[in-house]
Parts: sequence; structure tokens; C-alpha cells
Amino acid sequence: MSTSTLDEFAKSKLAALERRKLRRHLATTRRKSSARVDYNDHELISFACNDYLGLAKHPATIAAAVEATERDGVGAGASRLISGNYPLYKTLESKLARLKGTEDAVIFGSGYLANIGTIPVFAGSADLILVDEFSHSCILSGASISRATVKSFRHNDVDSASKILNSQRAKFRRCLIITEGVFSMDGDLAPLPALAELAEHHDAWLMTDDAHGLGVVGGGRGSSFAHDAVVDVPLQMGTLSKAVGAYGGYICATHAVAELIRNRARSFVFSTGLPPATIAAATESIDIIATNQELTARPLTHARRFTHAVDLPEASSAIVPIVVGDVDKSLDASASLAEAGYLVPAIRPPTVPTGTARLRIAFSAVHSDDDVSGLASALESAGLNR
Ligand SMILES: *Cc1c(COP(=O)(O)O)cnc(C)c1O
Repeated sequence: MSTSTLDEFAKSKLAALERRKLRRHLATTRRKSSARVDYNDHELISFACNDYLGLAKHPATIAAAVEATERDGVGAGASRLISGNYPLYKTLESKLARLKGTEDAVIFGSGYLANIGTIPVFAGSADLILVDEFSHSCILSGASISRATVKSFRHNDVDSASKILNSQRAKFRRCLIITEGVFSMDGDLAPLPALAELAEHHDAWLMTDDAHGLGVVGGGRGSSFAHDAVVDVPLQMGTLSKAVGAYGGYICATHAVAELIRNRARSFVFSTGLPPATIAAATESIDIIATNQELTARPLTHARRFTHAVDLPEASSAIVPIVVGDVDKSLDASASLAEAGYLVPAIRPPTVPTGTARLRIAFSAVHSDDDVSGLASALESAGLNR
């Protein structure tokens, strides 16, 4: 009885998604490289992958993962505070902190877990969290778990944030301002120097989610390094699953802040450590990012060549959106590019605001110049360039 009512519930919810063209399906995707995939058994040139540097398939990261697996096994066996903190963790945390110019770094099981664990450590029910309206779902989840009052400011609009702080800040104890350093669905950079100044003025702490910044902007060191002067951001979150090519999340901060997170973030304390292969591969990637400027420059170079070719505003990261508005239109556009041999996903609500469905193009260091000019031509043939 309960099985059938639960099943009915799921079916009616799925039918509602179907009617609004928001039902999504898993396609079997075999990645041959960050630029070539077999997608439902068709080979496509992929612009749908966040492996911006091709490190997920780099011989050095694969070798490090194999070696770590053979030496340390396939699983951590426990949470890091119990017995899962094998030696590779310390090396990765110190190398990551060095790259980001912070005293310390804390590795989490994923970027999602880093955000939902960290935000409640620093904000509670007496506090205010101000988020950019385009912030990733896991930032909003973390804010909601914290039980702080959450207000959003208009995307990248420092005046909008300032107005909220002027009228609200005094009512709350502590205040966090959270933004993405590089926006995942828009590819633009947050105005970090102005937000840091605003935070300072209102006695608030600035936190950035740099999932799409590390390895790509600021010489590979991320969004704090992508402005005229290095921006002092006390809480810098990011992921090891995008340009780093592996898996896991991190927070870079001072030593005391990192230690408090290791003690209090529930998704850190109560979740098993990552597999040794993952940490070994990520460490290899961080070494590559720290030393190979030619590699880290390439995704942005490709993105800029593309935006010049199709007459879009100049790219500021590896991500270029083409907003088409309507959900149907975005699906048709994605399908016609697939016909032409390119995998470019349509991004629909709720990932992006209603009325802003789009194609999201992600450039990788392993794309060739021909891949990039081929996509530009395919867009023009499909009448999709604006
Ligand atoms: C991907 C992403 C995350 C989540 O990171 P995972 O390591 O994939 O869990 C968080 N924030 C942003 C902006 C992202 O794009």
C-alpha cells in the first residue's frame, strides 16, 4: 500500500516536470578526454565538462592515483578525525594553502559538503547571510542549514548589497557575505575588491566559492588573484572536482579558522575521508597548476578567441553562456549543435532563473584551436550567435 502511494507520488511529480519541459535524464557519457565524449553512443566534441585543464585524464594524475591505491587501498576507512586522515591529506592541504596564499586549507568530501558544512560554523540564528542572487544551490543550502537570516543581493551589484547592509546589518550579530568568485552559469567574475571593502565597512566576513576560478583565473590561483591587487578573502571555498580534475572540496583560511572548521563542520566531522587515489591525484594537479602557467592560461585564451569570433562580450573565465531565454529554444539549440557534432548542454531552471535558459559552453585546455573555431561556425550556421 505505502509502496504504491509513494510510487504514485513520484509519477505525478515526474509528469509535472515533463509538462514544463524540466524533466531531466541521465545520458551515458564516456569521456575519452575533456574534449571528446561518447554521448549516448555518439562521439561529440564536448564543451560540457568542468575538467578545464584536462587533468582528470592526465598521465601524471592517473599514475599518482594508481600508486596511492596500491599503497593505501581504495577507501579511507573512517572519518578523518577518527582514523581516515592518511598522510597524503597533510601534503595536499599545505600545497593548496601555499597556492592560494593562505595559512591553511581543509579538505572536505566534496565542494557541496564544504559549503553546507562551513557556512553554519560561522553563522547562526542571530546572524545575517547576504548572498549574490546567482549563488550555487549548495551555498543556499548551507545558509539555510545555519538558520541565519538570508538575504540576496542583485547579481554582482555592490550597491544592492550595500543598501541591504545599511538597513539590516545593525539588527544582527555576525554577518557573512557570500558570492561565487567566477559564476558557474554566467562565467563572469564577482567584483571582489568592492565586496571586500563593503565587508570591511560593515564588519562582515567575505566568503567566495571559487569552484570555477581555481586553475583558470588569476594565473591559476583563483579569483582572489584575478583583480588588480590580491583580494583578502578570509573564507575561500573551492572544489577539487573541476579544474583539479579529481574530487573533493576545500576551504582555505587562517590556521585558527581551519581548525575550528575541522572541529565543528558537521559534513567534515561525520563523513568518511576521500579515497587515497583522489587525494594523490589532486595533489599532483595542484603541483601542475602551481607550475604550468602555459596550461592554466589556455582555457581563457580559447574562450576569448571564441567570444571574439561570434561577437559576444569578451570572456572573463572558461565559461561562456549564450542565453536564449526559452526552455524549448535552449533544448532545440543544444540538439542542433549535437547534430553538428558538439556537446553543449542546455541549462534550464532551477539551475538558472526562469526566462534565462541558456547554452553553457565550457572551454578546456585540451580543446584544439579547430575545436573552438568549429564550434563558432556551428553556432553561426544554427543562427545562434547574437
Ligand atoms: C560544482 C560546484 C560546487 C560543488 O562542488 P562539488 O565538488 O562538485 O560538490 C559548488 N559551488 C559551485 C559554484 C559549483 O559550480
